[in-house]
Amino acid sequence: MQIGFIGVGNMGGPMAQNLLRAGHKVTVYDLAPAAVAALVAAGGVKAASPAAAAAARDVVVTMLPAGRQVREIYLGPKGILAAAAAGTLFIDCSTIDVATAREVAAAADAAGLAMLDAPVSGGVGGASAGTLTFMVGGSDAAFARAQALLETMGKTIVHAGGAGNGQAAKICNNMVLGVSMIAVCEAFVLAEKLGLDHQKLFDISAKSSGQCWSLTSYCPVPGPVPASPANRDYQAGFAVAMMLKDLRLAQEAAKTAGAAAPMGAEAAALYAAFAEAGNAPRDFSAIITMIRERSGQA
Ligand code: NAD
Repeated sequence: MQIGFIGVGNMGGPMAQNLLRAGHKVTVYDLAPAAVAALVAAGGVKAASPAAAAAARDVVVTMLPAGRQVREIYLGPKGILAAAAAGTLFIDCSTIDVATAREVAAAADAAGLAMLDAPVSGGVGGASAGTLTFMVGGSDAAFARAQALLETMGKTIVHAGGAGNGQAAKICNNMVLGVSMIAVCEAFVLAEKLGLDHQKLFDISAKSSGQCWSLTSYCPVPGPVPASPANRDYQAGFAVAMMLKDLRLAQEAAKTAGAAAPMGAEAAALYAAFAEAGNAPRDFSAIITMIRERSGQA
């Protein structure tokens, strides 16, 4: 297939590499010359503008930082919807707010073009290995057209419903993750205060009702889960800045939709304080260090 790929950073770069490896022709655009050069070295073609990357393609994939860039690239006067040939399928894999995702999808629909929101989980490791999870919003027909291509970049592809529902699934999931990580950190710090060994708490909770992914796959203390970032000084992994972005998107959506999410709000406030203290690039499980400080421990 002829594919346009816009935004080839930490995630988009390896995703586009996997499309090249699968034999597709990939034309890339990014503001960062080094990101483009890496794809050109792997057999991609450089486009001079987003519109040039999108014109005459079967599929256009975007992987951009936030809703602002997505809106600008899709809807602007020199935007990719205006440049696209009839029949082009757009897949936005960025994590953005639900309202923008629905607005851009409606604009695509009005132009007679198919569009999916397809945010991912799995991080840079999953992007490189082609094992991402895609949470997809959009029509059945567009999903059917995208499925094989998404399987080139991911392992689990879930159709979550109509436009914006991929983004909705992503922020709901990450709100659970942010809240549960803080709860697990609080439990370990309380255990330290009570003289209960990390490994003992892990062994018991992993088999009890406190079991969750933050504990058993991403344990915030070194030892029980050797692959977790706690064992490498909280090198990300999934950065505090990213978790804060997703928790804020969840709060924004909760406000707009009229859903009460007080634990999500508290998690967003705690991650904001932690980021402001200079921890934005660290792994999000490092928030245990702030819980310890607040408990009067170093
Ligand atoms: P990144 O900053 O590494 O990549 C974004 C790329 O977009 C950069 O190369 C940047 O130059 C480019 N860009 C920005 N504005 C542009 C514009 N106007 N025109 C063209 N290119 C532009 O970020 P990333 O880590 O690849 O994340 C991308 C998206 O994926 C974000 O929405 C993020 O929330 C989401 N995400 C990231 C991870 C992760 O672990 N990194 C995991 C899941 C989801």
